[in-house]
Amino acid sequence: MNVQGQIRKASPGATEHFDVLIAGAGISGVGAAYHLTTQCPGTTFVALETQKTFGGTWNTHRYPGIRSDSDLHTFGYRFKPWTSAPIATAAEILKYMGEVIEENDLGRHIRYQHRITSAKWSSAENLWTIEANRADTGETLRFTTNFFWMCQGYYRHAEGYTPAWKEMTAFKGPIVHPQKWPEDFDYKNKRVIVIGSGATAATLIPAIARDAGHVTMLQRSPTYFRTGRNAIEIAETLRQLQVDEKWVHEITRRKILFDQDAFTRKTFEDPEAAKKDLLSAVEAYLGPDYDIATHFTPKYRPWRQRIAFIPDGDLFQGIKSGKASVVTDQIDRFTENGILLKSGIELEADIIITATGFNLSANGDIAFEVDGKPLDFADTVTYRGMMFTGVPNLVWVFGYFRASWTLRVDLVADFVCRLLTHMKASGVRKVTPTLRSEDHNMPLLPWIDAENFNPGYMMRGMHLLPKRGDKPEWQHNQDYWAEKDEFPAIDLADRAFIYE
Ligand SMILES: Cc1cc2nc3c(=O)[nH]c(=O)nc-3n(C[C@H](O)[C@H](O)[C@H](O)COP(=O)(O)OP(=O)(O)OC[C@H]3O[C@@H](n4cnc5c(N)ncnc54)[C@H](O)[C@@H]3O)c2cc1C
Repeated sequence: MNVQGQIRKASPGATEHFDVLIAGAGISGVGAAYHLTTQCPGTTFVALETQKTFGGTWNTHRYPGIRSDSDLHTFGYRFKPWTSAPIATAAEILKYMGEVIEENDLGRHIRYQHRITSAKWSSAENLWTIEANRADTGETLRFTTNFFWMCQGYYRHAEGYTPAWKEMTAFKGPIVHPQKWPEDFDYKNKRVIVIGSGATAATLIPAIARDAGHVTMLQRSPTYFRTGRNAIEIAETLRQLQVDEKWVHEITRRKILFDQDAFTRKTFEDPEAAKKDLLSAVEAYLGPDYDIATHFTPKYRPWRQRIAFIPDGDLFQGIKSGKASVVTDQIDRFTENGILLKSGIELEADIIITATGFNLSANGDIAFEVDGKPLDFADTVTYRGMMFTGVPNLVWVFGYFRASWTLRVDLVADFVCRLLTHMKASGVRKVTPTLRSEDHNMPLLPWIDAENFNPGYMMRGMHLLPKRGDKPEWQHNQDYWAEKDEFPAIDLADRAFIYE
């Protein structure tokens, strides 16, 4: 497969120019490249990617069992049917992305081992100047572009987040973060503690429980999970009827989105009923005698944090079989043999895995400047969670949490392509989101409403993120069902866009 892109030579010292430059070749960057070729034919573009290959999240994370926690009909692109079981492994997702690259000849636009280090906008030239370090040669390369499409995700790929617990060095075994899973890591017959109970822990535990001696999921507080068969009934029926896969994909997407909308509404309108639905599904696996109140009943309303889907209840089956167990307590300190809990109990272990989340990185660790001044995104206000006041010709793809990330990749791409076409037709070279006179007294709020959604890595890094306002244009609402209608209707002549 020709998906590896080109490691093209750029003559040392020369600057290459592209109409659009994409940061990253994860699901967002590859989606952006597809939409540019189909919706803006003739546009020159390049995607620069730090890693040696495409995939982003699905390439970085290599722990056992790594899989999606949302269905691939909606995590997949709208334009390429997903034809397997809805919850997919990283390998299956990478294969799917590889096919998108190959089928659309996108490889020639992607350059791997190119880490973008700086991006400087010049209003005199109406251009971004982008510098990248090329890992294989050590060269610093320079590019100019009219439009910078940031598809670099939201967390630092090089290193995950591990809290600093007391006396961690006392523990005599390995402490591993899932983001840096060692190759051939031996956990056979070992006692393993997994700290955390998010999607990563829930995926990893059933995968290692088979071979490990015992796995303990140690959580400070419980998480909601959804569970069920790894299959979607309507897709199965349509396939039985030999309906074309394009139709199966579209109809299944619509059904999933319809059901998710109903569930999301329920979590706001009748949170107790939504909670009951989730907990009774867990109880069906663990039985009435299991202490669900302590270990699986969060204090927050469902959907304030991501709800991972557990296919076929495999996590619960591991617990039921005795290969895995859950402890809900707080860590006092690490010891030579494991972890001492605040309750006074010591959990013994040979290996400790810290499934404790990410380090937020809002801008791909790129040093930004606008007209000679360093840019701090925290000083800007977002235009609908994708553009930023005072920052010309730039879009950041930040997907959904409550629905699949990729739904927003497609929606933002439609907007960018419409904007680029509009700018070309109007003969303008610069668009800057700008607060209108009526927006000046608008209250400025954090990037995401913590009442709405509040995972740890967001809360830790909220001060680094752009602000939002209280009007639809300046909101970042994380609401696919609103944005799917609002985005296509965005008036490009709105005074929030200053063209030059
Ligand atoms: C384990 C795990 C499971 C998940 N499961 C789901 C799920 O089931 N459903 C869902 O909706 N979401 C899920 N997510 C969220 C997930 O990260 C997103 O859905 C999606 O994969 C993000 O894609 P992306 O392309 O925007 O970013 P990423 O996947 O983070 O890719 C960004 C790419 O940009 C590159 N990059 C970053 N900075 C630079 C730079 N300066 N220069 C050049 N390249 C750069 C990175 O190397 C990376 O390859 C999951 C996340 C994790 C960690």
